[in-house]
This record gives sequence, structure tokens and C-alpha cells, in this order.
Amino acid sequence: MRVLLVEDDDMIGRSLMQALESAGWSVDWVRDGLLAQSAMSDGGYTCVLLDLGLPKQDGTEVLRRARERGDLTPVLVLTARDGLDDRIQNLDLGADDYVLKPFEFRELLARMRAVIRRRDGSAHSLVGTLALQLDLTTREVLIEGEREALTAREFALLHALLERPGAILSRDQLEHRIYGWGEEVTSNAVDVLIHGMRRKIGPDAIRNVRGLGWRVVPA
Ligand code: CA
Repeated sequence: MRVLLVEDDDMIGRSLMQALESAGWSVDWVRDGLLAQSAMSDGGYTCVLLDLGLPKQDGTEVLRRARERGDLTPVLVLTARDGLDDRIQNLDLGADDYVLKPFEFRELLARMRAVIRRRDGSAHSLVGTLALQLDLTTREVLIEGEREALTAREFALLHALLERPGAILSRDQLEHRIYGWGEEVTSNAVDVLIHGMRRKIGPDAIRNVRGLGWRVVPA
């Protein structure tokens, strides 16, 4: 999944880019409105994170032009502008959601999932392989079609692994997906979680790749 990050602030941009990549996103980062407009015209993004106060062209203008072209890519506006008029104007122009800075990264990810689901329709709420799927709406796992409930951490673990079946995720990447920033994580937390997960979904569903991390074998 590819996200266009439009942010002129170096520090925010860098930390968002890093966090998004750890969350399994491919990120294209641009720092002004004109580059944002041309990147959006090229297309191919699952969603766009759009700052409003930008050099060369305001984020609101980028959004207005994209919608005028018929570009329906989900756009989340990220901004410190909390005025009611700004919110209304951008939602009316076709922003899918509006996130005020500063925000919790996990909430941003959840909002990204929500706007993507809304755009795709509920038929696309399943991710994973034929044998192992995750229902993003009910937060259940489907093992050969049989549904099982998951805890929040089990869901986060499987979501990370099943977004890109076959991709190896390191311990750091998984911890980043499962635990919040600043949360205390014991050194074997991921192992314990995967051990429990294997009892639920079968011993071979999540494979360890020695020294690198874990992966789900694509169907
Ligand atoms: Ca800005």
C-alpha cells in the first residue's frame, strides 16, 4: 500500500515517514503543494496525508484541484488549523477526514484504514492469504474460512503480517505495530504473542526467518 505524505515540516515529515514505513506502508514524501499536485496526478496512492499550510500551493488548493480532476483517492487532512471554517471548507471540498496536530500515530493509522475501507466498500475489508484472512471490520481472523476472535494485540500482529503476505517483518517493526510509542515492551513480548497466536491459527501459519523476523507464507 502506497501513501503520499505531503508535509513541509522536516521533523514531522521525517517522523511520519519512519512510522508509516514501520507500519508497512510505502511512502512518497513531498514538501510543497505543486509537487503534491503532480504526484497525485500520477496516481497510484492508496491514500494521501495532506498538510494545509504548504509552500507554493496551499493544501486546500491541492485538494480542490484533485477533486476537480475526478481524483477520488482518500485524503486525510493533517493540520494545526482547528478553525471551524477550515474544517468545513476542507470536508466540503472532499477531504475524507480531518486530523488535528498533534495526533497519536495509532489513531492516524486507524483513520487511514477507516477512510480506505469506506472508499473500497465493505467487500474489501478482508486482507491476507486464501488460507488465512483478517476481517478489518470485525477484527476476526478467518482460518480456512472459520472465524476466530482476536485480542487487540493479536489483531495488530496479524494485520502487520497479512497486509503484505510473504514480507518479513523484524521484531522492531512488529513491536512498532503492536505497541504504542513510549509503551514498555519486554524483550520477548513478540515471541510470547506469536507463540499464543500459533495455538489459535496453527503452528505453521507464522514462520520465523532466523535472524530477520517473521512472515506469513503467501498462499
Ligand atoms: Ca505546514
